[in-house]
Amino acid sequence: MNFELLYSDRIKQLSPSPIRELLKIAVKPGIISLAGGNPSPDTFPVKELKDCFLKVLEKDWKRILQYSPTEGNTDLIEIIKQYSRNQGINCETENILITSGSQQGMDLVCKVLLNPGDEVIVELPSYPGSIHTLKSYQAKLTGVPVDQEGIDIDILEDILKDRQKTGILPKFIYLIPTFQNPSGVTLTETRRNSIIKLAEKYGILIVEDDPYNALRYDGENIKPIKALDRNENVIYMSSFSKTFCPGVRVAWVVGPKDLIRKMVIGKQGADLHTSSLNQAIVAEYCRNNLMENHLKDILSYYKEKRDIMLESIERHFKNVATWTKPQGGFFVWMSLDKKENTDELFSKAVEKGVIYVPGSSFCVDGSNKNSMRLSFATVSNENIKKGIQLLSEIFSL
Ligand code: PMP
Repeated sequence: MNFELLYSDRIKQLSPSPIRELLKIAVKPGIISLAGGNPSPDTFPVKELKDCFLKVLEKDWKRILQYSPTEGNTDLIEIIKQYSRNQGINCETENILITSGSQQGMDLVCKVLLNPGDEVIVELPSYPGSIHTLKSYQAKLTGVPVDQEGIDIDILEDILKDRQKTGILPKFIYLIPTFQNPSGVTLTETRRNSIIKLAEKYGILIVEDDPYNALRYDGENIKPIKALDRNENVIYMSSFSKTFCPGVRVAWVVGPKDLIRKMVIGKQGADLHTSSLNQAIVAEYCRNNLMENHLKDILSYYKEKRDIMLESIERHFKNVATWTKPQGGFFVWMSLDKKENTDELFSKAVEKGVIYVPGSSFCVDGSNKNSMRLSFATVSNENIKKGIQLLSEIFSL
């Protein structure tokens, strides 16, 4: 068979994720990987998960081993509804869809909204998993820079003004406003208010991807943009991947009812529904209030690692680089003052025994070549220190 003749235009224009390729290197023995984006297995609540698994099986095996409604497990939807309301998000049952990871939430948003060539605004830098999804729906991607306070609102408005003149607005703005992957930056309250006003003024949708929201180590809580939404301008997504474990593939979307209906139709063609068993386990876990204590544990676990990484960077990179100081999430974004190219220096890093993700991997315009994403989530405290020291040797400071 000549498969080249068979492949769709959609798949032909995609290449493998550079990060997944990098992570293959990370499995080599002895390499310190500051590149991964995974949560730490040390935080997975294995015993409680086992108990919940046995309990739901004993209690309700006929239902939870069966096919189930596409919208999601009704108990879990109720839990998400209450949780969302506590976050200030105004929602009812019909506003919620349970998805197989937020990655599927993003896929369904694109499936429902995008025709090939539609424009979508993304942050510079942004999450490559979503860029991949957007590209697979043949979106035209426009990047808007992020600074210490989040996406640059002035540049964003200039683009929207310009597009309004042409009569064709971008389909949506894709944002990770809290403890952003990859920069660790959180969009300030002031900018959240500005962005919702822009969305209302131009009649544009915001897709708010918020998987790190519950992982705040210090600072004041900031409400999601969705909590400011008055006119159905925001689709909100979050996930149990970082707070429970990614292997269960349970996440959710809160959005306008009509749009959720369409996403339900889209999901029926993808996987019928998210695993009934896994949803029941997550619902049981939440119902027993196990999440509160678990969160306390994992917050102090990650906070310690975040602090060690920031202290190590301060020690080795003071005066030669700038870096973000995330109040939550997994990532620090570091930019080298001398504009060294982190793509080119990557092989040198591998030789030294440490890896990071080069900044350009997160940028739809290939910019931020002097930057890198550093993750502290899965690395031992000792190796965070060692890894940062090795990096400082590579960049010959
Ligand atoms: N969005 C962002 C910003 C992420 O960092 C991730 C996971 N790395 C996802 C979505 C996907 O999460 P899930 O496991 O829920 O599919």
